Parts: sequence; C-alpha cells; structure tokens
Amino acid sequence: MDIRNFVIIAHIDHGKSTLADRFLELTKSIDKRKMQEQFLDQMDLERERGITIKMQPVTMKYEVNDKEHILNLIDTPGHVDFSYEVSRSLAAVEGAVLLVDASKGIQAQTVAHLTTAVEQGLKIIPAINKIDLPGAQIEETENEILELLISLDSDAERIHKISAKTGEGIEELLADVVKTVPAPRIDIKKPLRALIFDSVYDDYQGVITHVRVLEGEISPGTDIFFMGSKEKSESKEVGIFSPQRVKRKKLQAGDIGYIVGGIKEIEKANIGDTITTVKNKATEPVAGYRQPQPVVFSTIFTKEDSAFEDLRDALNKLKLNDASLYFEPESSPVLGRGFKSGFLGMLHMEIILERLRREYDLDLLVTSPSVAYRVYLKSGEEETIFSPSQFPDPSEIEKTEEPWAHLRVITPPEYMNNVMKLLKTIRGEYADTEYIGKERMRINYEVPLADIISDFYDNLKNTTSGYGSMFYEIAEYREEDIVKMDILLAGDEIPALSRLVPREKAQSEGRKVAEKIKEVLPPEQFAVAIQAAIGGKVIARETKSAMRKDVTAGLYGGDYSRKRKQLEKQKKGKKRLKEQGNVELDSETLMKIFQ
Ligand code: GDP
Ligand code: MG
Repeated sequence: MDIRNFVIIAHIDHGKSTLADRFLELTKSIDKRKMQEQFLDQMDLERERGITIKMQPVTMKYEVNDKEHILNLIDTPGHVDFSYEVSRSLAAVEGAVLLVDASKGIQAQTVAHLTTAVEQGLKIIPAINKIDLPGAQIEETENEILELLISLDSDAERIHKISAKTGEGIEELLADVVKTVPAPRIDIKKPLRALIFDSVYDDYQGVITHVRVLEGEISPGTDIFFMGSKEKSESKEVGIFSPQRVKRKKLQAGDIGYIVGGIKEIEKANIGDTITTVKNKATEPVAGYRQPQPVVFSTIFTKEDSAFEDLRDALNKLKLNDASLYFEPESSPVLGRGFKSGFLGMLHMEIILERLRREYDLDLLVTSPSVAYRVYLKSGEEETIFSPSQFPDPSEIEKTEEPWAHLRVITPPEYMNNVMKLLKTIRGEYADTEYIGKERMRINYEVPLADIISDFYDNLKNTTSGYGSMFYEIAEYREEDIVKMDILLAGDEIPALSRLVPREKAQSEGRKVAEKIKEVLPPEQFAVAIQAAIGGKVIARETKSAMRKDVTAGLYGGDYSRKRKQLEKQKKGKKRLKEQGNVELDSETLMKIFQ
C-alpha cells in the first residue's frame, strides 16, 4: 500500500490541531460520536492553553483515484523550547504542510522550522488558513510565503487557501499531500534503523517509543539495541497509532508506529536515538542525534517543608515522560529543601511548574531562572555552574564563559524602531535585517542567552502590540567576566539572593535589586542597610527606613519636655535594636524579590 509520511509546520494558534481534526474526519479515522475538538492534543494542559506540547501521531487510510493510501501524520510542537523535537519529527517524514494564519502572517518559529524542513529535503505544501476570517490578508500572506520559499531555494506548485474551521479547501489539500509528498523508499533487506521521534511512559509497559522505521523491519520478540544509549532489550510489542495504539505483527521501512521495548527509564530511549537489532546491527545511527541539554535552571521549593517528598515524587513522575527534565536536591537556610532543576527553555519551565501545581497540588516557591556558565579554573579544571552557591572563589578562576544564542525577531515594519530600542536594552550584536514580503521584517541578532530568558519575550510582545515573534537557537559559549553578586541585609549576606552577573552589568543589576528589596521588605524597628557587593566590595546600596511608631501619640498639650524624653528614649531603643539588628526574611518576601 502507498504510504505518505508528513507533518504540519505552523505557529501556535495558526490552526494545526483544527486542520488535523478535519483530516481525521475526512479519512473517517475517528467515529463522529467520539470526535472532539483538537483530538490529537491529549493532555488537559494542552487543551486549556491551546498549545501542543507532545506530538501525537496518527495513521489514516485515505482513498483517492480508487487507490488506498496510508497517511501518517505527526503533530509537531510549535514552541521554541521544543525545536529539537521538531527537527526529529521532520527527519521522520518526507513532506510538510506549511500552515499560515491569513490574519497573522508568517512568524519567526515557522520560518526556522521551514528552513530545517527544506534543508532535510522535505516537499513543502503551503496552505493559508482562516480565509473565512474578515481580517484575512490572503494576498499579502501569499506573497510572504512565495518570497520565503524563494529565499530558501524551495518552491511549491500551488498555495492552498483553506479554512480548517469550515472545511473549505481541505479535500484538495489532502489530495495534494498524496500527490506531492513522495512515498518512502522501502528497503526491508537492510539492517533495522528506526528513528525515535518521541517516547512516552506507560505504567504497565514501561517506555513506549514512537518511531519511523527507515530501513529493515521489526517484529515482537527481537533483541534490539539503542545505538545512542547502548542499551539492549527485547521488543515486546509493535504497532501503529489510530491514534490510540493498535498492535501489528511487524513494522517495516516506511512505517510510523511504536515499539514497546521493556525499558523502564526514559533516558535510555531518548528522542533522536536509533533502534537497531542485536543480530544484524546497522553501522550508522540516523544522523543528528543529540542528548537533551537543559539551558535554563532554577530551584524549586515547596512552601511547606513537609511537602518536599511529594515534590520529589512528582518530579520523578514527570521525568518518566520527559527525558529533558533534570533535577537534583539542594537546600537553603531560608527556603529549606528543594530541587535545582534544568529546563529546555522558559516555556518548558512554565509547563513543568504548572503541572506540579495543578496535577500534584503543590504550593511552590521558585527562584529566578539562570543560564549555565562555564568556569575555567587556574588548576586547569573546567566546571559548569548555574547556581551562585557553586561559584568558586574568584582567586581560583582563570576565565568564565556564558552561552549565546542566535535570535530571530519578526515584526511588521511599523514596529521596527520599537524593536531596535528594545534590543538596545540587552547586550548583543546586530547582524542584519531583511524583508519577508512587504508587511514583515526579520531582524537577526546575536545575544547572550541570559538576556532573553526572563522577560524579553513579554517585552517584545508589548512593544509590538502582540505582532512580534521570536525564535532562538543556542549557539556557542563566549568569554565574559562573570561575577557573583551578594546581597547583604543589615550587614548579613543572604545566600538565597546571590546571583551570577556579567561584571559590566553588576552595578545596574545591583541597583535594581536593592531598589526592589527596599520596595518589598517589610519595615523593621530599625533602619536596614541593603547592599549589593562583589567579593566584599559594596557596589550599590539603599536604606529601608525604620517603622515609625508614634510614641508621642496620646501626649496632648504642651508637655514639651515629656515628649522630648519619650523621643530620646525611642532613639536609644532603636540604636540598641540596630546593634542587635537581625533581619528575618520570610519566603513570601523572597518570592517578591525574585519576581
Ligand atoms: P494550533 O495551536 O496551531 O494547534 O491551533 P488550533 O487548531 O488550536 O487553533 C487555534 C484557534 O484558531 C482555535 O480557536 C481554532 O478554532 C481557530 N481556528 C483554526 N482554524 C481556523 C479557521 O480556518 N478559521 C477560523 N475562523 N478559526 C480557526
Ligand atoms: Mg494545537
């Protein structure tokens, strides 16, 4: 039977899940009664937030021109944090539907994913969606798509104009997928090579890998070998997605399906790894395998220290389905026990935190995110550090490095000035600007990752009235003089408030933090000095004034000397308090400082 393997490349909200629903209906893959919107988005969180986190593949049967076809669709996650997963699903297919919302135009991530798709030799089928909307700019979007394809040395026979909502143009689009996307080359004589593009954990069966079989074939009861993790096991079950799992006797070259390998830890069956057989080993794994690398770090505490074990259980459970989640225990004098955690990016972090709160009912405190720095010691050793508490004594340090990223911002030209102003507020190097169509510009920038992980995206959205979009890829590490900035309250160092900053930004950062603390710190009986310091040298300071207790209240009339006596007594009292002064920082105040 004729197979077509394809993905849909689209920005969040451009209608990918809705289009997939129409395909499922058209191919009668799902009983009308069972049909609910965004069928392939199975996690509650995905439905609520309307974003696709995990790819849910599906196999459909479709008859055109009296010929039956097998269509395998992989739904890809759209956000920057998951771009590596997207690149793996692109490697598992021969074609891509490029879906663009006619009212929004092309967005930065779409360009990035399309570029990868073209590089990997995929056939592109462009479609303009939401043509039913009154604000649809169909012609302009068509021009943008054309220019973009030309700039990538790619082309397409036609650009579809569809409405995933009303169903207009969907049948022609699917017929074009069958016509344009090449059937996979089927070589079942070669040793097995199955590319893992996703894996999920099942309580009974362990890790279930989602694979594209590129060469060879696999049936249950075969000894298999994971070429990246070097893990050996036996295939227990193989099958396809309908979209629920359906057992098959075998999978062969060209197929997309699943393999149950009796593996209990998801790190042993990583996305991007290649499965082969023990008896007849492939010589080369599928190219492009990468170990998932967390790039953003933060420490998670529970508000009640007693919930620490619950947090551990919850993280372990989430880890079963997410090999890229990293955590290790850490403790802080103020905040108690917690977990230092690593994420692929800010959205990944947000999703994990939301799931911990929602699915595990945990009350959490989270420190502000940090990148991973490289520290080269005079002793010749090299360390990766993301927590100020790990930072070595400056006298031992030879040099420090921080991660950079290629940043791509796409914006309508009228916001160009705003975007350039925003970019001036962060460190970085301007590369170039280019037009995509008439209504959109792309700005290429090189930036330190630390400067775009916390609030840059929000600022970009604000400064472009929501029209700007961004995409970044982690690039190389570059040398930068990184220092540990300590925060002192009434002369005491508060370790939870220390942070790693570039020396050139230390002063302004220090001032910002000191001001913030002054604002949120509850007043004490005595004035509190708030200092930011590097290696004992104060670089910024603020003073939180003492709480004013009106000791003269109740003393009416002219008894001036009594009033004076009272005030003098208070002054002495304050002095004594100040000498003993100890600032209690509760966790709520700490959180306000982190925000
Ligand atoms: P995804 O994030 O790309 O998966 O986008 P969804 O499929 O979840 O769609 C985002 C929103 O756009 C939903 O509210 C859909 O109902 C809506 N939508 C999708 N396609 C169309 C369309 O063709 N016309 C209109 N008017 N709305 C659409
Ligand atoms: Mg979706």
